[in-house]
Amino acid sequence: MPETYKSITGLVDDLPASSIPQFSTAEYRQESPTQLCGICRKPIGVRSFVVDSKLACARCAARGSASLASDSPTLFAQSLIFGAGAAIVGLTFYAAFTIVTHLYIGYVALAVGWLVAKAMMMGSKGAGGTRYQLAAVVLTYAAISLASVPILVARTMQQGDTHIDWSSVAGQLAVWGIASPFLQLQRGVSGVIGLVILFVGLRVAYKMTAGGRKTI
Ligand SMILES: [Zn+2]
Repeated sequence: MPETYKSITGLVDDLPASSIPQFSTAEYRQESPTQLCGICRKPIGVRSFVVDSKLACARCAARGSASLASDSPTLFAQSLIFGAGAAIVGLTFYAAFTIVTHLYIGYVALAVGWLVAKAMMMGSKGAGGTRYQLAAVVLTYAAISLASVPILVARTMQQGDTHIDWSSVAGQLAVWGIASPFLQLQRGVSGVIGLVILFVGLRVAYKMTAGGRKTI
């Protein structure tokens, strides 16, 4: 005599065991008696999944969905768009703040790193990983270093120098901007502090986009 069917929910307790379809379980038992999960090495069960190109059981698939999601080109592209948007917002805010107040506040680097990473994680629905971390670092660095370009332009124009054709030197300005955090070192201690804060900001962005085992 086979074991009687017991519903977990209790909703179908009155149904006779014969009315509940069990062919999928039977199929599994007949066709793949030794098929093991590539992750936990336990029998896979009725439904199999692919996690990290390994055949996995439903439980491991549920736990591994974040790593699956991080492989998604769509989520990564979306994450890059969000991150780039945040980098532009961060650059604009930093430059505008500095131009208006004439204050260089290195700590803005922390805020920009946080903003870029937060936006990227929003775009990826929580998925992260190495390439997300690299992108977050690049975007944060670009936003902070390139903010020095509009600041320089504004300062030069405020000094009455309005005859410069900025578009003709745009390329040089961009290169100068990218290098500017290191050029600051010529200013001595304040330059070193600025660079240290920049690295802390990059670290914030890097850590926040590591991703985890979160389900999306
Ligand atoms: Zn498993």
